Amino acid sequence: MKNAIYLDANATTPILPEVLDAMRPFWEQQGFGNASSIHRYGQRTRSAIDHAREQIASFLHCRASEVIFTSGGTESDNMALFGALSAGDHLITTAIEHHAILHAAEELEKRGVKVTFLAPTAHGAISAEAVRAALQPNTKLISVMFANNETGVQNPIAEIAQIAHAAGALLHCDAVQGAGKTVLDLTALGCDMLSISGHKMHAPQGIGVLFLRKGVQLRPLLYGGAHERQRRAGTENVPGIVGLGCAASMAERFLKASGEAQIAALRNRLETALSQIPETQVMGLEEPRVCNTLNLRIHSIDADALVIALDLKGVAVSAGSACQSGSTEPSHVLLAMGLTEQEARSCVRLSLSRLTTEAEIEAAIPIITATVERLRSTRL
Ligand code: PLP
Repeated sequence: MKNAIYLDANATTPILPEVLDAMRPFWEQQGFGNASSIHRYGQRTRSAIDHAREQIASFLHCRASEVIFTSGGTESDNMALFGALSAGDHLITTAIEHHAILHAAEELEKRGVKVTFLAPTAHGAISAEAVRAALQPNTKLISVMFANNETGVQNPIAEIAQIAHAAGALLHCDAVQGAGKTVLDLTALGCDMLSISGHKMHAPQGIGVLFLRKGVQLRPLLYGGAHERQRRAGTENVPGIVGLGCAASMAERFLKASGEAQIAALRNRLETALSQIPETQVMGLEEPRVCNTLNLRIHSIDADALVIALDLKGVAVSAGSACQSGSTEPSHVLLAMGLTEQEARSCVRLSLSRLTTEAEIEAAIPIITATVERLRSTRL
């Protein structure tokens, strides 16, 4: 199968060759070993894990001891919520979170946790004031995402952290869609917990991190060995950890070298060109957005039909969040922003990565424009 122009980086990103090279030895004869073993095999993997932890700490501006390796964003999100909350506590979260947070919060509600789901503004952001207004005396945890996976809209995390701490609550932030796209500086953000996922930043699927600020108490999700300082039991996914460490270092270098502006320029070019399509509106345009995401509402277009038609023409985009593909449910994020079901079904998401080239963007523009025109004309 010929490769398409890939504009679906918010679903997943390809592993960088350097990341694969860093991981390879840990699947091979010389690199295997259980990091809990005290012989040389164990020592080698232990030191590789320690190095990766340092790389993540540098990437997130935190201490190495605050980095917990998990199986991905979903586990990190679940660990934060289930680990912090008990029956009788109050959780403030938002209606636009990923299902890894939403469904965990719904399960916690069944277990006696009171949950407030905040609505976003019409442009897709969560206001710090809305968080403040939702506080209750028993608010234990606030969980607000850094950037939304469908619109790219960013939330005022540092401001929300101040509100949380003044009220004696903890702040968790799902930063899965922020990592690698902009600098995540935990000293500036101020949150107590933060989730990232490898496969959104050119590391493999099935590896992630929960940052847990020093001194914050959390019940583990998994019980077993003393791995990850007794916070997450289970023999480590060494190749995944090494890959994520390498991807984090590469992302750090990329961002230092103005990578964010480079991706934003390509996204803006795409946005300007596709906005010329009659009756097309950019979702989340009025808010700060991560550099790589463009969500377009294209009037009288069925987004699923457009995704299929574009795939046939060699352009890969998405009609909703990755975890919903295959289901016919309209995006809960767009519904929460006030769109009707029909309007939400006409939205497509285009998301770039640092591997996206100008030539690909220039090639994709006429294909997308012509495909929309063709689909519209066949409806008449
Ligand atoms: N949080 C957000 C915002 C996401 O976009 C995703 C994946 O799409 C996740 C969490 C889940 O991460 P993972 O796929 O690593 O479980």
